[in-house]
Amino acid sequence: MIVVLKQNANEERTKQLITWLKGMGLDIHISKGQYQTVLGLVGDTAKVDMELVESLDIVDSVKRVTERFKCCNRKFHPDDTVVSVGDVKIGGGHFCMIAGPCSVESEEQIVAVARAVKASGANMLRGGAFKPRTSPYDFQGLKGEGIELLKIARQETGLPIVTEIMSVSDLPLFEDVDVLQVGARNMQNFDLLRELGQTGKPILLKRGLANTLKELLMSAEYIMASGNEQVILCERGIRTFDDYTRNTLDLSAVPMLHELSHLPVIVDPSHATGLARLVPPMALAATACGADGLIIEVHNDPIHALCDGAQSLTPEEYDRLAKKVNAVRGAVQ
Ligand code: PEP
Ligand code: MN
Repeated sequence: MIVVLKQNANEERTKQLITWLKGMGLDIHISKGQYQTVLGLVGDTAKVDMELVESLDIVDSVKRVTERFKCCNRKFHPDDTVVSVGDVKIGGGHFCMIAGPCSVESEEQIVAVARAVKASGANMLRGGAFKPRTSPYDFQGLKGEGIELLKIARQETGLPIVTEIMSVSDLPLFEDVDVLQVGARNMQNFDLLRELGQTGKPILLKRGLANTLKELLMSAEYIMASGNEQVILCERGIRTFDDYTRNTLDLSAVPMLHELSHLPVIVDPSHATGLARLVPPMALAATACGADGLIIEVHNDPIHALCDGAQSLTPEEYDRLAKKVNAVRGAVQ
């Protein structure tokens, strides 16, 4: 349920209303917008007398929120959420470029790629240390050592680091990581989501291979209901019947998610297509349809990459793409 307060509602009376609602065992999420304050009520709202609340002189309107996702619902929080990672902001008009290799392979590799993407204007560095591979015989990532190498690259470039967490038990290793990524395969690892809700760190939540937008939002809800509002949604392609591309990039997810939720939405054209030559056109399309950022795989030697070389751009290709992304942003703004 949401309670929209009148403009300039009396503060004391608002506090009394909130205390009364909390007394009914409800969680109250307060969203102070430029023009309106919205109270989002979470819990068993059946016992709230809507007509009584609506009759209060500080209340403009009361509405039931029929969707099961509440905290991430745009109705609860009409303004865009801006996620902050140090000085980097995502959402609400702030566009963010995240770039780097699929996996961290060595200090030389990650530092070289970090320097290159930074020079091309990237805002954050990605790199997998724990890799979710389809085959147990493939390179599984450098794990803890990979995180240490990412920190070196951060020190060298100042770029905040984004890396995937696969298991709750690894959480202590991620203490000094700036953004924790939940990969497509773990989108519905509810124990992991709940734990991440208690970290207070920005979470990059990727859509599962075969998950609906509703399910993605319910997963964001797990993180937010556990106390963490810093969630970035990521469309990375879904499984369909076509097999020319690795996945099918669902770009309609971007405006749809923006309609349903106040959270920032970014796009990963690398995992969506699996083909480096398709990454630039889809990155530009994602930018044009309103994405709040892009996450792109870049490798200094894609042919010899230990993971996802076929979809990785070279630093030169990334540089050309970054310039075009800026041009598209200028055109659609
Ligand atoms: C990744 O970003 O390296 C990755 C494994 O992505 P996804 O979970 O989207 O497949
Ligand atoms: Mn990858």
